[in-house]
Amino acid sequence: MEFDGVREKTLVLVKPDAIQRGLIGEIVGRFERKGLKLVGIKMMSLDDELLGKHYSHLADKDFFPSLKNFMKSSPVIAMVWEGLEVVTAVRLLCGITKARTAEAGSIRGDLAMSVSCNVVHASDSVENAEKEVNRFFTEDELHRYNKAEYEHVYADDER
Ligand code: UDP
Ligand code: MG
Repeated sequence: MEFDGVREKTLVLVKPDAIQRGLIGEIVGRFERKGLKLVGIKMMSLDDELLGKHYSHLADKDFFPSLKNFMKSSPVIAMVWEGLEVVTAVRLLCGITKARTAEAGSIRGDLAMSVSCNVVHASDSVENAEKEVNRFFTEDELHRYNKAEYEHVYADDER
C-alpha cells in the first residue's frame, strides 16, 4: 500500500460515545463532504492488547484504565481515509482533544463536551498513521479504486 501523495492514509475511529449517540453517519459524512476517499471501514470490538499498543503513549497516565474501559464499552467503527495531506486535514476536521473547547465547526467542537468522550480518534502524524492503519487493517481490507470526483476535489497538479 502506498502512503504518499493523494494516497496518504490515516486511521479514524468513531468512538463508543458516538456509537451510543447515533453519530456514525454524521461523522462519516464530514469526511465524505471534505472530499476524502474511504478505503477501509469495519465495526470492531477492541481488546486490552490492541488498546495497549494504540494508546501506549498514555500507559503511565491515571486515566489509562478508564480510557481502556471506555474504548471497550461498545464496538467502534474503524476507518481508513485517503487524500493529499490527509493526516493533517483529518486532525483539523476533528479538533483538539478537549472537546468542550475545540473549535466550532470541528467534529469535536460541534458534537462533544468531554476530554475523554470526544467521539473520534485520528492519527497524529504520517508516521503514526502508517503504523495505526497497519495495526487495525490487513492489506486485503484496504481498497484501491478511482473516485470520479477527484478531478473536482484536486487541481491537475495535485493529483
Ligand atoms: N484522554 C483522556 N484524558 C486526558 C487525555 C486524553 O481520557 O486527559 C483520552 C481521550 O479520549 C483522547 C485519548 O485519550 O482522545 C488519546 O489522547 P491523545 O492525547 O492522544 O489525544 P487525541 O490524539 O485523541 O486528541
Ligand atoms: Mg492521539
